Amino acid sequence: MIQTLLIANRGEIACRIARTAGAMGIRTVAVYSEADAGALHVERCDAAVPIGPAPASDSYLKAEVIVEAARASGADAVHPGYGFLSENADFAAACGEAGIVFVGPPVSAIQAMGSKAEAKALMEKAGVPLVPGYHGVAQDLTTLAAAAEKIGYPVLLKASAGGGGRGMRVVEAPVDLEPAIASAKRESAAAFGDDRLLVEKYLSRPRHVEVQVFADGHGNVVHLFERDCSVQRRHQKVLEEAPAPDLDPAIRAAMGAAAVAAARAIGYVGAGTVEFILDATGFYFMEMNTRLQVEHPVTELITGIDLVEWQLRVAGGEALPLTQDQIVVTGHAFEARLYAEDPVDFRPQTGRINHLRFPGPPARVDTGVRQGDTVSIHYDPMIAKLIVHGRDRAEALGRLSRALAETEVAGLVTNQPFLARLAAHPAFKAAEVHTGFIEEHAAALIPEPQSPSNQVLALAALAILRHRADLASATPSGDPYSPWRAVSGWRLNEAAVQTLILEQGDKRHVVSLRQEGDGYRMITPATGLSVQDARGDKDRLRAVIGGAAITAGLAFDGATVTLFLPEVPSVLSWIDPLDAAGELDDVGGRLTAPMPGKIISVQVKDGDVVTRGAPLVVLEAMKMEHTIAAPGDGRVVKIHYQAGDLVEEGADLLEFEPSDEA
Ligand code: ADP
Ligand code: ADP
Ligand code: MG
Repeated sequence: MIQTLLIANRGEIACRIARTAGAMGIRTVAVYSEADAGALHVERCDAAVPIGPAPASDSYLKAEVIVEAARASGADAVHPGYGFLSENADFAAACGEAGIVFVGPPVSAIQAMGSKAEAKALMEKAGVPLVPGYHGVAQDLTTLAAAAEKIGYPVLLKASAGGGGRGMRVVEAPVDLEPAIASAKRESAAAFGDDRLLVEKYLSRPRHVEVQVFADGHGNVVHLFERDCSVQRRHQKVLEEAPAPDLDPAIRAAMGAAAVAAARAIGYVGAGTVEFILDATGFYFMEMNTRLQVEHPVTELITGIDLVEWQLRVAGGEALPLTQDQIVVTGHAFEARLYAEDPVDFRPQTGRINHLRFPGPPARVDTGVRQGDTVSIHYDPMIAKLIVHGRDRAEALGRLSRALAETEVAGLVTNQPFLARLAAHPAFKAAEVHTGFIEEHAAALIPEPQSPSNQVLALAALAILRHRADLASATPSGDPYSPWRAVSGWRLNEAAVQTLILEQGDKRHVVSLRQEGDGYRMITPATGLSVQDARGDKDRLRAVIGGAAITAGLAFDGATVTLFLPEVPSVLSWIDPLDAAGELDDVGGRLTAPMPGKIISVQVKDGDVVTRGAPLVVLEAMKMEHTIAAPGDGRVVKIHYQAGDLVEEGADLLEFEPSDEA
């Protein structure tokens, strides 16, 4: 039995492992880089050891430093998590030499599966079906070209030492082969220090289906059924489910048996995953991951088995708690990986998580960050995994959509709207999954950014007015739900108009609301939209706008508000008209055009009484919008232009009469 476990990882997986270890009464030791001194995984462990500077190569990948940390902290076992040193045979060996249990397979099994080429050769011998391809030793162009010719184009080049989708190139025709080999070799050498390649038949529209296996040191090997991880971008998983939908029972059984055979062939112990590619012609071995997988929770939810608990028991010398017959599938599970990533090009994003709110049960959320934490350039940009279970696929998918809708992240761009669209897509609902799914449905999944609707603009304006009223009166008096609260200190007369300039990307929207009864009426940009029945607090606002109820979660950060709407969060910054006014010269009774341009909109009418800073006229010049604001409190006497008019520099736009008190 393990007494003290050092977790040689960070982020969500370190927290995940600490949770189970803690529940089993095992003392946990975290390791952390300089960037992670305040990280959640450090907080979740009983002790913590610093291991060096932020870059992983100087800390989380330093095998000897981590072994020393384990020794110094009295750990009798090390759990490597996934990524980092989890599939590093030298690290596993170093643990063994130091008398520390490596929670994972024997060194020989890691070595056997470490090279995709050697793994394929081994599996061929064990009778496991392979994708047609070449995985020989010779690496010269003539050999690779002849192999590709024999396999038939299109072919896929893969780094033999590869992982994380790196070093892979699809080659459509012979003419493209040579440059693709060169670039795949360069990428593999840089990423893995090994430039050997293998060539495979590139299957079109296949599925990625993988089998979870488990073995103990007493000769027992079982599988925990399969996961479908077909929904990928850049050959990497974003959404996983278990069991694989619409899988022929005979194929399921054959895959399970093949995976168990693969594990047996290499004397496997612990948790492992055998990855297959599946198409109409059959299923084929791709690789075996000799570690806990990112998506292991979906298997946990359909089997009721805690995989980390099994790993720790097996590492402690126990036999597997269940036999194959005792492992049954109940219902269906999904996992969505929430990344700090812009779905437009799937590029990782960095930044501070200013606001973070996760769904509650029945969703399970595995995360390694809290509000206020930073996603840095040093590590994986995954923020959390949202995991749900249901009695069947439809119920589980409904819960996934709900969990995604309840997730709120502000401060950086995430793939949350993209995941929400994926979960709601009719083809995904119909389980028409294959590895090209995202590409095929890109138009629907990654739509052009749209301007916020007038309903959203009105809600945003209302939220900002209430927020500013809160800031203005630290102790708001009276009914906190009254919309009147929003206008303290602003109301001028019966027809008080509130105007805000809202900015999203490079677009500006002027929004004016006029008080009416106990609500408002929008006068710009949509005249006549009623805004009523506002309810909420600083985190949430509901209103009936244009007769339709709309609710949004809110997160304020300086002069930026994020509205969490059912599918897409809307981030809007407001430009305070008072600040805008400060930039203008006070020109007495005349307001002139600062440069030649076109009148975009006129915000007021003759005779209107306005406060200092109220936008009067919006002018477009030099591809920018300029707002002419009231230089002080006063009255608009006469407006000389209307929307659409072209004006010269210095043109008199309107006559303005400052009020006496000003
Ligand atoms: P990695 O080590 O990067 O995970 P894999 O060999 O598991 O590499 O492949 C990653 C992904 O690439 C798979 O999940 C699958 O979507 C795709 N892929 C791999 N091999 C093929 C193939 N022969 N044909 C089509 N797609 C493939
Ligand atoms: P799986 O096959 O288990 O789904 P993936 O290949 O999608 O795994 O992701 C594993 C990858 O996650 C690693 O290769 C690495 O790039 C990245 N990674 C490593 N450590 C962490 C971590 N602590 N948190 C998040 N991601 C990590
Ligand atoms: Mg893989």
